[in-house]
Amino acid sequence: MLHQEIIDFIRNEFKTSDFIPLHVPTFRGREKELLNECIDSTYVSSIGKFVDSFERVIADITNTKRGVAVVNGTAALQVALRLAGVAKGNEVITQSLTFVATANAILYNNAHPVFLDVDLDTMGLSPKAVEEFLEQYGEIREGTCFNKKTGAKIAACMPMHTFGFPVHLDELIKVCEKWHIPLVEDAAESLGSLYKDKPTGSFGEISAISFNGNKIITSGGGGAIITNNKNLADQAKFLTTTAKQPHAYEYVHNELGYNFRMPNLNAALLNAQLEQLEGFLSNKRELALSYKDFFSKKGVKFRTELENTQANYWLMAIELENKKERDQFLKYSNDKKVMTRPIWKLMCKLPMYQNFYKDGQKNALFLEDRIVNIPSSVR
Ligand SMILES: *Cc1c(COP(=O)(O)O)cnc(C)c1O
Repeated sequence: MLHQEIIDFIRNEFKTSDFIPLHVPTFRGREKELLNECIDSTYVSSIGKFVDSFERVIADITNTKRGVAVVNGTAALQVALRLAGVAKGNEVITQSLTFVATANAILYNNAHPVFLDVDLDTMGLSPKAVEEFLEQYGEIREGTCFNKKTGAKIAACMPMHTFGFPVHLDELIKVCEKWHIPLVEDAAESLGSLYKDKPTGSFGEISAISFNGNKIITSGGGGAIITNNKNLADQAKFLTTTAKQPHAYEYVHNELGYNFRMPNLNAALLNAQLEQLEGFLSNKRELALSYKDFFSKKGVKFRTELENTQANYWLMAIELENKKERDQFLKYSNDKKVMTRPIWKLMCKLPMYQNFYKDGQKNALFLEDRIVNIPSSVR
């Protein structure tokens, strides 16, 4: 009965009796115009004016000094971690309740993830869990934090702003500063989200954003590294463009770089999408308000932004009573062609990550059983 009422409400919001996907891209701006311009220019590959203008605009809207366009969000995270100082055998603190790319980016650097718990209210890395871990295992030697038990350097702390809901940044920054650990934000999902009026991604030494097809705006596939440190930005550009030394015609590479460039063609699409970001944010906020009103009347917990934050409402979520109800609702809604999806399985349960350190994961396990994403596209 309740489940059918939810389906009816969602159908009414999206005004369709057809299949309703979880999140689809919206192309209502100058996408075709800019793509045509890009093709006509012949600059469809890794250099061009759309890459340049994107890099200026992304720095501008995230209130950072520099943005570097890359091929996807995972690559952005991988390079951001490397530039934050993460090297082979180091440890990186992160949350287990996240999309797999967060953990993969750590392992690509041959570093070890340390999976700590999330907060129930943000669904992101808990400053208290980080503090407890460091009180137990942390040790500062000559200004660098080490794990007393493993002997490894704790090289970075990487929170992820789940579904666009910012983590408790002030508290997290305080712990990281105390223990001399650089903060790297996985802001892949949170473009447009604010913490105390400042954009997520602007708090870390260096941070990453994704423009995959399912994110709030898309370049087909793409990502960005953002930072206030111009030197790190220069290095990010260098490393992601095969570490080629500037030269008029010679190929000189003196370091192991990556071909992580975003093609100009994708950047053209992204420029058109960026022009619509404000509109998408308010459009999604309206849907979130409708959901909030409906679900509160039904006694279902709809996840909303916390005080002092503004979420981008990238993927909207409800919290069901328990795993059984969650499973029933997932089956019911998908059978009725309204796409819903459970939150990720915890990273610490995946075969490639089950042998790394994890804490009790109390809140992560609770949320893993209960959180369901519901259709969230721009309408
Ligand atoms: C989407 C996403 C990424 C990776 O982005 P891609 O562009 O798909 O590589 C990284 N972290 C999180 C949390 C994401 O949701």
